[in-house]
Amino acid sequence: MSWFNRKKSGITTSEKKETPGGLWYKCPSCKKLTPSDEQLHNLYVCPVCDYHEKIGSKEYFEILFDDNEFMELDAEIVATDPLNFTDTKKYVDRLVDTQKKTHLKDALRSAHGKVEGEDLVVACMDFTFIGGSMGAVVGEKISRAIDYCIEKRIPLLIISKSGGARMMEAAFSLMQMAKTSAKLSLLAEAKIPYISLLTDPTTGGVTASYAMLGDLNIAEPDALIGFAGPRVIKETIKKDLPKGFQTSEFVLEHGFLDKIVNRKELKKTLAQLLQLFKN
Ligand SMILES: [Zn+2]
Repeated sequence: MSWFNRKKSGITTSEKKETPGGLWYKCPSCKKLTPSDEQLHNLYVCPVCDYHEKIGSKEYFEILFDDNEFMELDAEIVATDPLNFTDTKKYVDRLVDTQKKTHLKDALRSAHGKVEGEDLVVACMDFTFIGGSMGAVVGEKISRAIDYCIEKRIPLLIISKSGGARMMEAAFSLMQMAKTSAKLSLLAEAKIPYISLLTDPTTGGVTASYAMLGDLNIAEPDALIGFAGPRVIKETIKKDLPKGFQTSEFVLEHGFLDKIVNRKELKKTLAQLLQLFKN
């Protein structure tokens, strides 16, 4: 005798579809499932709705540099803790934990490689490292990348993805805004092109310094770009914000961006721009 009897009729069971972990990508925007390798081949862009998944320096270098060949610059620089800072945990411990977890040294990597045969230095932020926060290491690596560009006469691309300044470094972090801006003016004096690519999200002190100082400021579609976040602004001005506020499209319409570039067009567009600048 069975110990369980189905009392209701009309219930059907179909064969369950197995979705082994890691093989499917669920788009956070349209919620559709796509095979992971298809999404990867589509440069981490959802094939259904064009949502640009957040990626880091490893992926951007793969996408941009010819045959994924590049020479990383200043890879060994790591943060110190001049303020002996502690929030929910000690800053020094947070750094070590994050380095272990992400296999990154800090929130930015810079490298020299070729994009469709054209030399380019790419400095790319990593959001997974303490929210892509700009501390002294990020500022120093950008400064050194600029020195390298001036010395070798190579254009610079900075890919921004950041929550802003790193609060654990307080004023030292804010100084990076002035430092990187001053360095970029030296690059401009040397007449070397600087392209800024703003990705989702680019906010705070990063927007207020190098991200908006490009000879060309380009962005990925539907990226959050702003200084303060929408919630803070809404609470301050006590008014509802317009639709699409702080998206790349909104920022472009208001004259703060030159172009929105789909990730699938990024390499080609950069190569064209580099050739234009050269000629
Ligand atoms: Zn989607």
